[in-house]
Amino acid sequence: MSEGSQNLPPVPPPLPPKVLASRVEDVFPILNEEQIARIAVHGRTRAVGRGDLLAIAGQQAASFFVVTKGSIELVREANGSQEPIGALAPGQFTGELSTLAGRHALVSIRAREPGEVIEVRRDDMLGLVQTDNILGDIFMRAFILRRGEIIKQGFGDVILVGSNYCSSTIRIKEFLTRNGHPYAYMDLDRDSGAQELLDQFHVGPREVPVLICRGQAVLRNPSNAQIAECLGFNEAVDPGRVRDLVIIGAGPAGLAAAVYGASEGLDVLVLESEAPGGQAGSSSKIENYLGFPMGVTGQDLAGRALTQAVKFGAELMIAKSATRLSCEKRPYQIEVDPGSRIAARAVVIATGARYRKLKIDNLARFEGAGVYYGATAIEAQLCRDDDVVIVGGGNSAGQAAMFLSQTAKHVDILVRSAGLSESMSRYLIRRIEDSPNIQLHPRTEIVALDGNGRLERVTWRDNASGETTTHEVQHVFSMTGAVPSTGWIQGCLALDEDGFIKAGADLSADDLAAAHWPLARPPYLLETSRPGVFAVGDVRCGSVKRVASAVGEGSIAISFVHRALHE
Ligand SMILES: Cc1cc2nc3c(=O)[nH]c(=O)nc-3n(C[C@H](O)[C@H](O)[C@H](O)COP(=O)(O)OP(=O)(O)OC[C@H]3O[C@@H](n4cnc5c(N)ncnc54)[C@H](O)[C@@H]3O)c2cc1C
Repeated sequence: MSEGSQNLPPVPPPLPPKVLASRVEDVFPILNEEQIARIAVHGRTRAVGRGDLLAIAGQQAASFFVVTKGSIELVREANGSQEPIGALAPGQFTGELSTLAGRHALVSIRAREPGEVIEVRRDDMLGLVQTDNILGDIFMRAFILRRGEIIKQGFGDVILVGSNYCSSTIRIKEFLTRNGHPYAYMDLDRDSGAQELLDQFHVGPREVPVLICRGQAVLRNPSNAQIAECLGFNEAVDPGRVRDLVIIGAGPAGLAAAVYGASEGLDVLVLESEAPGGQAGSSSKIENYLGFPMGVTGQDLAGRALTQAVKFGAELMIAKSATRLSCEKRPYQIEVDPGSRIAARAVVIATGARYRKLKIDNLARFEGAGVYYGATAIEAQLCRDDDVVIVGGGNSAGQAAMFLSQTAKHVDILVRSAGLSESMSRYLIRRIEDSPNIQLHPRTEIVALDGNGRLERVTWRDNASGETTTHEVQHVFSMTGAVPSTGWIQGCLALDEDGFIKAGADLSADDLAAAHWPLARPPYLLETSRPGVFAVGDVRCGSVKRVASAVGEGSIAISFVHRALHE
């Protein structure tokens, strides 16, 4: 692959990566000799020739490189051409979060001149990050900042072409955003070049949204699983290995279990049917989670937790649902669509809950096209300067009202009860009362939704007066609580009458007899009616439906997982 160095023009001195000029020294730090020597023990020192390719964009990046002599460049593949975006000099290193997680490289890496690098395999890099505090901090900080810069610059290997009025476009945007994957967006309603691009790929109007993956694959209205496959999200995972622990669900509870389990030496695999973050990932601002006095977005919290879990070596399968648990014998088998099985010595179920839906006949027509279940920056952008209706009287509804009132023209909150005092935190009620553009409608419910292609009108009834009124409103946020995601458990575990999983002291003697509990000891705290299968977070019967308690349960469960594994 090397071009050879004879008769070639001299190589100019390396420029720092130009896209990252704002904080180059943080994003591309220079290691000192002693630090380089510590890394060299974990890798292989090798010579490189000018033009040698060390990583190829779109392929799984197996190694990290530290430059010791000469320089290497980062090359972006765009529109069939290669654009160098910066060079690394001796002491600097390659890699970012996708490399750490074993995903596809976002840029190619090429030697600019004859030189030398230390090549560190991904597993060895994970070991180094976990065991060397100083180097671990330098690497993790750089990787996180690099990912942030890549997203800020819209510098991905993916272009999404769609319309903000289309539910699939919003689904795909949320999937990519919540997986922290950078993408460029072309809006069919505003961007004249978008249609030209679709024509170039012979895409008809019924096939949008379209995702152009690495400039090659054109995915027409793809499912989340197809996107995950095209971007290689799960490529590094070996589904055939029997794991110490399989965690099902990557909300706050599952991610906490992953961080604690992996950091305590367990071989951990997390299955997530959508994207990391769970319900919390759809929260615009969590203000009551310890340690974040200014609040934190659910997306930010989930992103940090995911990075932490990956740092400790936990593996994640994205857009993979557990569809069945075979619990008759150990190791337990978890069926994952489509049809494959994963074996686990212990299981933590953290599948949380799904949003309860409004009882309106034509609701499905407007889901994602005017009816939303989370209020993040994406939705806030969609309803800027418009009127908004929020249904629900809990904290999530209150947060959404406060958040959306900053950009929307007016916010109506509809609740069936007489007021908010029973269901919402006092601080939120006070803020709502003080907001001039938020109006509370007690004893009120939506009775009809109407529109052509997307939501245009909402009719609600004041149950106190019986009066029904229709309003020109294009955005309804449904925040009326959730039901447990346990349909896939199919008779394996004892559930309560609402479908939540019973665990620990909540299991009665009858529950244990019905499940043929085989051990002399009673179930541990958080352990279900099957030994070694634990339930944590919102999916557990009687749990406190909060981020902090989900995180607490996820971490506590790990100490009992250790005990169950040693039985
Ligand atoms: C809009 C909103 C705002 C909120 N704000 C706050 C707040 O400010 N403070 C607070 O303390 N709490 C808040 N909450 C509540 C908090 O988010 C939840 O209590 C918490 O997320 C529960 O975490 P969990 O991990 O148990 O479940 P979830 O967050 O529900 O996560 C479960 C995960 O499991 C996945 N999953 C489900 N089924 C399967 C399957 N079969 N296979 C694989 N994966 C599966 C789901 O996709 C999901 O990612 C809010 C909730 C919402 C909806």
